Amino acid sequence: QTIGDFFAAMARSQGSREALVSRHQGLRYSYAELHREARRLASALLGLGLAKGDRVGIWSHNNAEWVLMQLATAQVGLILVNINPAYRVAELEYALNKVGCKALVTMAQFKTSDYLGMLRELAPELNLCLPAKLAARRLPDLRAVVWIDVAGQGDEQPGMLRFSELMARGNPDEARIDEIAAQLKNTDPINIQFTSGTTGFPKGATLTHRNILNNGYFIGECMRLTPEDRLCIPVPLYHCFGMVLGNLACFTHGSTIVYPNDGFDPLSVLEAVQAERCTGLHGVPTMFIAELDHPRFSEFDMSTLRTGIMAGSPCPTEVMKRVVSEMHLSQITIAYGMTETSPVSCQSSTDTPLEKRVSTVGTVQPHLEIKIVDPDTGAVVPRGTSGEFCTRGYSVMHGYWGDAAKTREAIDAQGFMHTGDLATMDEDGYVNIVGRIKDMVIRGGENLYPREIEEFLYRHPQVQDVQVVGVPDSRLGEELCAWIIAKPGAAPTEADIREFCKGQIAHYKVPRYIRFVQEFPMTVTGKIQKFRIRDAMKEELG
Ligand code: ATP
Ligand code: MG
Repeated sequence: QTIGDFFAAMARSQGSREALVSRHQGLRYSYAELHREARRLASALLGLGLAKGDRVGIWSHNNAEWVLMQLATAQVGLILVNINPAYRVAELEYALNKVGCKALVTMAQFKTSDYLGMLRELAPELNLCLPAKLAARRLPDLRAVVWIDVAGQGDEQPGMLRFSELMARGNPDEARIDEIAAQLKNTDPINIQFTSGTTGFPKGATLTHRNILNNGYFIGECMRLTPEDRLCIPVPLYHCFGMVLGNLACFTHGSTIVYPNDGFDPLSVLEAVQAERCTGLHGVPTMFIAELDHPRFSEFDMSTLRTGIMAGSPCPTEVMKRVVSEMHLSQITIAYGMTETSPVSCQSSTDTPLEKRVSTVGTVQPHLEIKIVDPDTGAVVPRGTSGEFCTRGYSVMHGYWGDAAKTREAIDAQGFMHTGDLATMDEDGYVNIVGRIKDMVIRGGENLYPREIEEFLYRHPQVQDVQVVGVPDSRLGEELCAWIIAKPGAAPTEADIREFCKGQIAHYKVPRYIRFVQEFPMTVTGKIQKFRIRDAMKEELG
């Protein structure tokens, strides 16, 4: 089955049930409506001269148009390329050219960012009426730009199509859609997703229908989603967290998806949960922290919440416990995965015992294999010992787009994806993510895991958030450094933190450098870029 086949079947069985609520746009779609509009868009995209296998970019914050693009491209075999809305001119140029995008759907403006302005900077002669000039552009493959009129900006854009005009050209009953759909295979690429760029330059992972549709289904199973569920998605759609753990998990279970806003903002999440009576909520840990610590948190009724997913980066046990007790998310699960594996490899399920659910990433997903190996020798390590997490099965990406060498580095000859993450597995099969191989600190020959020290420092009553990294040291090779964000109104000192560590953790685990900061360098997915913390410290320490 392809994503298109699957959604068509859902549209028949779910019909008038609500599929999508986009609160900031005031839009609501039933399954049948969403399906019909996606077909209208698919027909309009074919009308632009696009054909199976062509890449079509979407460079936008969360909105209904995004979902329509996801479903429309899947219907007719166009490859949707998720482009991070935080990208600016140089990154956009890199991404579009890397995969040879023929068309791009974007917003006109968002807050202070002028998206069409950035595009014109790259391609001043962009004009659909003048094909002869196109070859000279910095975006040689791009033929069409469609802009979403999000905030009612009404000006005409020469050479660019308004999304609503594009839709008006489409015919949902066009026979060509079904002819193309009948030829698609579930092993066809359907999506190129760029990784977060947490450790460096983002890589474009090519994913098939089979990859992400199956993964979305099993993710929803772990949460026991049903058509009664209403899932609030503040995480970005351009990332697999929104697109697979959100959209596809919901659509494979007939559930309703709720977007509280275009970008993340804790207040609109609290409002959406209450107003829409949401039963589920997704987020990276920093989002849950921002919601829990919002000054108006206690004014909102969270009692309808039941489940959701925390994922994307290490999920501190303390934060999980607070989410369970203060947000009623008694059946929340943690998922672990990466863009390259569709993404989820491990997830707890609603019936995993609470203690395991808050402290591990659960067990391996059905139909996948995992092994934990010594990164140097490749030998499987004993239970309880940490090693590199590797996985094989339906979830492993097709490859990095246009980069066979990088693909071979990541996926070995036996088909195992090497994740670069360190993990342990206990006797019962529960997996713990210890950290990234790249983040491990080797201090005087001792392997130190920042995650363990972060977990400890989170327990300090004045600490809101903490990140531990290794910084170069001439004597010991590396030393530990902690960046701390204090709770609102609190002003802990370095001495307070040291006192807190005394006698509780080994002396060599107490960070040599402690810095108090207002924020961490982050990707728009809310992931903390430790390499930037390391760079800042290197600069400070000379
Ligand atoms: P890049 O590969 O570009 O540096 P990235 O690895 O952050 O960025 P993603 O594919 O978005 O890009 O994220 C996958 C990574 O996120 C995993 O490899 C892992 O390090 C981390 N991660 C995901 N879920 C969890 C989790 N539940 N616990 C700990 N770490 C997690
Ligand atoms: Mg990665």
